[in-house]
Amino acid sequence: DCLFCKMVSGDIKPDLLHADEHLLVIRDINPQAPFHALVIPREHIATLNDLQPEHAELVGRMYLAAAAVAQAQGHASDGYRTVMNCNRLAGQTVFHIHLHVLAGRAMHWPPG
Ligand code: AMP
Ligand code: ZN
Repeated sequence: DCLFCKMVSGDIKPDLLHADEHLLVIRDINPQAPFHALVIPREHIATLNDLQPEHAELVGRMYLAAAAVAQAQGHASDGYRTVMNCNRLAGQTVFHIHLHVLAGRAMHWPPG
C-alpha cells in the first residue's frame, strides 16, 4: 500500500506533468515553492539506502526528467533545487524514492 505505486498503477490519479516507461513527474499536493514537482520512478525503491548499482541509469533518468520539467516550466535559467529526502532526519514521509523539484523563489542555504 504505497501511495506512489498506486499512482504508477493508476489507482490514484496524480496531477501529472510527464510520464514515460521509467518515470512519472507529478505536481506536489502541498507545494513548498511556486513550482514543486516530484520525479517518481515506476519501480518501487523505498529509500535512497535501497538503491542498487543497477539503478544507476534510472537515477540518471530522474535527474534528466527534473531538468526537463524545470526547462519546460520556464525555471531553468533562474534556477531551481532538487532534493531527495532519506529517512527520518531528512523528513521522508513517502517511502518510495522521489526527487523534489522546487522553483519560483529563492532557496535557502544551508537548507532547513
Ligand atoms: P517526502 O517528505 O520527501 O517523502 O515527500 C513526500 C511528498 O509527497 C511531500 O512533499 C508531499 O506533499 C507529497 N505528497 C503526498 N501525497 C501526495 C499526493 N497525493 N499527490 C502529490 N503529492 C503528494
Ligand atoms: Zn511504491
